[in-house]
Amino acid sequence: MTVPDGPPDLRDVFPTAVDPMALSLNENPFPPLPAVRAALTDCLGVANRYPEFLPERMRALIAARIGVGDDQVVIGTGATGVILQVLHALTAPGDTMVMTAPTFDGYPILAQMARLRPVTVPLDVHGRHDLDAMAAAARTARVVVLCRPHNPTGTIETAEDIERFLARVGPDTAVLLDEAYVEFLTPSERIDTRALVLRFPNVVVIRTFSKAYGLAGLRIGYGFCAPALARRCWTMQLPFGVGLTGLVAADACYRAEGELRQRILTIAGERRRLRARLSALGVYSTDSRANFVYLPGAAGRREAWPAVFDAAGVRVRAYADGGVRITVGTEQSTRAVLSAVAATMV
Ligand code: PMP
Repeated sequence: MTVPDGPPDLRDVFPTAVDPMALSLNENPFPPLPAVRAALTDCLGVANRYPEFLPERMRALIAARIGVGDDQVVIGTGATGVILQVLHALTAPGDTMVMTAPTFDGYPILAQMARLRPVTVPLDVHGRHDLDAMAAAARTARVVVLCRPHNPTGTIETAEDIERFLARVGPDTAVLLDEAYVEFLTPSERIDTRALVLRFPNVVVIRTFSKAYGLAGLRIGYGFCAPALARRCWTMQLPFGVGLTGLVAADACYRAEGELRQRILTIAGERRRLRARLSALGVYSTDSRANFVYLPGAAGRREAWPAVFDAAGVRVRAYADGGVRITVGTEQSTRAVLSAVAATMV
């Protein structure tokens, strides 16, 4: 690799950043709002200084917004950083971690980094968690992961099913309830995770600014749980671990919540439209409530899904079952996805 003389061109460094057909990482298609950009630009003037030693102001900001105590929140380098921090705080090498297969790609990697033994449980035919099988596997596990909505299928379990599951998991097994995509849910699809973490003191809810808030590049995530568990997780809070842009951007997003909400509704509407059009073409997708759709691999298809999108220049995430996860982007990317699919129908 040769080092260029001038500053790097972002289009070279991050080719997908400007590619509307980059639909493999569940990113938000909208660039940061002008108010968020302005706040970020301002804060760069003090980049010679360290951020807070521990992200206490950020913790207070997020706690106040979501309506929990400051002593219930942990902050990380994206949800990915929070998950690793929680694993480091609550597990010992050799412990077992239960997750579905497939799930968010980070989970097997983070299990390995924390030296845990991963145990995987297949999803059911609808792409949902098999909660009975997971509860059985959790009996000997230190950690178990549920994603709601799930990645890659976008499906959700009911509040009753989640509570029944939690009631079956022992108090010494931590449950990571991953809500990375929660903002895409309608109010009636949400569950009251603030109340849940107080009733089940072994549950940690994981959230991120990478998806609905559209700040994947800034790496801001958080978790919340009962105070006693949060205290344990906070012991692994990396000193100076959250850059100063994190606090500034989170604050600017909260102030611009109305505009962000509008964007979230646009993306959710685009997802509904995409699923309806796929269905009209005779293509099944799982019942996704997030900012992506999942087309399972189907036996007997003439052309495998990954090849279909590859040929059309649409970057999607391929899975072992021959399925693909496609991020919901702009109307332009929806058109490209639909025309790639329609071309296989002739
Ligand atoms: N959890 C789930 C379910 C995800 O899909 C992702 C990102 N794809 C993450 C966590 C991590 O998000 P980040 O580290 O960008 O906050």
